[in-house]
Amino acid sequence: MNQLPPFAFELAPKLSTRELSSREVTQFFLDRIEKLQPSIRAFISWDGDLALKAADSIDRRRMSGETLSPLAGMPVSLKDILCTTDSITTCGSRMLENYRSPYDAHLVSRLREKGLVLLGKTNLDEFAMGGSTETGFRGPSYNPWNLALTCGGSSGGSAASVAAGMAPLSIGTDTGGSIRQPAAFCGVCGLKPTYGRVSRYGLVAYASSLDQAGPFGHTISDLALMLQTIAGHDPRDSTCLDVPVDDYAHAIAKPLAGARIGVIREHLDGNGLNSEIQAAIMIALDEYKRLGCQIIDIAMPHTKYSIATYYIIAPSEASSNLSRFDGAHFGFRAAIEHNLQVADGGKVRTPLIEMVSQTRSQGFGDEVRRRIMLGTYTLSAGYYDAYYMKALKVRRLIREDYDAAFEKVDVLLGPTTPTPPFRIGEKLNDPIQMYLEDLFTVGANLAGIPALSMPVGMTTNGLPIGMQLQGPALSESKLLQIANAYHRAIDYQPKLAVLS
Ligand code: GLN
Repeated sequence: MNQLPPFAFELAPKLSTRELSSREVTQFFLDRIEKLQPSIRAFISWDGDLALKAADSIDRRRMSGETLSPLAGMPVSLKDILCTTDSITTCGSRMLENYRSPYDAHLVSRLREKGLVLLGKTNLDEFAMGGSTETGFRGPSYNPWNLALTCGGSSGGSAASVAAGMAPLSIGTDTGGSIRQPAAFCGVCGLKPTYGRVSRYGLVAYASSLDQAGPFGHTISDLALMLQTIAGHDPRDSTCLDVPVDDYAHAIAKPLAGARIGVIREHLDGNGLNSEIQAAIMIALDEYKRLGCQIIDIAMPHTKYSIATYYIIAPSEASSNLSRFDGAHFGFRAAIEHNLQVADGGKVRTPLIEMVSQTRSQGFGDEVRRRIMLGTYTLSAGYYDAYYMKALKVRRLIREDYDAAFEKVDVLLGPTTPTPPFRIGEKLNDPIQMYLEDLFTVGANLAGIPALSMPVGMTTNGLPIGMQLQGPALSESKLLQIANAYHRAIDYQPKLAVLS
C-alpha cells in the first residue's frame, strides 16, 4: 500500500480502470498525513472516517457502472477558509476556533458532486492575511523542502500538503498571491483564476474584490482538471461570471503556435530580485524562444505602485468584511461580567461595547488587528479621498497597463516571488518586508486576471523556484497551454519534497 504513486496524473487512470479503489488511494494519503503532519503541520483538521466513507461511496458508484468525472475518487485537501458542513472552518483564527458552517462553499459542493474525496482542512495565515503561513492560531506550517523555512502563504498548508504528498491536489485562495507564492515556495503548480470564474459563495471574505479560489497540483494538467471541476456560474455570488467554461484539459494539449510572450522589464531588473531566480527565468525565456515564441519587452509604468495600492484596498475591504466578527454572530465571545461598567475617558462603556471590544482584541491576532486598524483609517471620513479613492484610481491605471500589454502579447512571464523561501520568523516582525514579497503577484488580483505559478528550477541550496504566467481575463486555456508547453519541452518530472 505504501508503494502507490503520489501524483494525480498517475492515480486518475488507475482509479478509472478500477486498478485502484478510492479507498486504497484515500487510505494511502491518510497514512502520509499521520506520518508527516507532526513535522510539516500542513493541516488544521482532518477526518479519516469521513474521507473513507466518501471514498467507499465513489467506489460503489464506479462498481455499478456509473460514468464518473476524471477526478472521481481522488482525494483533495482544502484551505480552512472554505466552508464545509462536516468539519470546522477556522480561518486560522481563534475567533472561529470551533465554528461549523451551516452550508458548503459552492466549490466544495462541486468537488463533492464530481466525486472528489475531501481529506481535511489546511493551515493558513489568519483570515488569509499574510505571506508565510505563520500567523494562524495553530502556529506555522513548515516547508517540506526545508523545515526551517516557511512554505509561503497564505495558502501554505495547501501547498505544503501537495509538495509533501499528503494530498495529490488542493484548493487554496488568492487575494494578492496566496496561491502562487506558496506554490513557488513549495515547488508545485498553483492557479489563481480570473476574478469571477469560480464562485466565492462560502469562501470567508478577506477582500471581496480581490479574493479568488483556485487549485494546486503537481502538473499543469492537474490545474486544468481541477479548474474544470470548480469553475462555472453560481447565482449565489453576484460577481460570478455567467460565461461557458472551456475544456481546459483539451486546450493544454494544443501545440504552441507562435505565442507572444511579454516580459515585464520592471519585474526582471532590480527590485531586489534574487539572482538565481532571475537566471532561471532567463533560461525559461530561452526555451520559449526555442519553441518558436516571440519574446516582447513590456513596460508597466504603474506596477511600482501595486503594493501600495493593494495594501490600501485589501485592508479597507478587510476592515469592513471582518466587522461581522463581533462576539454576537459567529464563533468566539469574550467573557464579560454582566453589569460591568468601564470608564473610557469621560464616557462609560456599556457591557455590549466592552464585549465586542474584548472579543475582537482577544479573538484576532496581531496582523489581522493591524489590517483592521489600517483599513478603518483609510475608509474614515477625513482620509477616504486621500487614500481609498486614490488607490481605486491607481488600480484602474494598473489595469490599463495590463490591457495595453495584452494588445501586444498573449501572456506575461516573470518570477513569482523576488526571493526563495525565507526562514520561519524572519519577516514576522517586519510587516513591510513581508508585504514586499507580494511585489509580482498583487497586480493580477488588482486587475482581476488569471495567473499561475509553476516550478522552473531549484536554487543551489535545493529550494524551489517559481515562474509566473499572467494572461487577460478568461484566458485560462491559453495560460495553461503555454505553461504546459514549457513543462513538456523540458520533460518536467514532478518530485515529492519528502520521499520517505
Ligand atoms: N500576502 C498577501 C496579503 O497578505 C496576499 C494574501 C492572499 O492572497 N490571501 O494580503
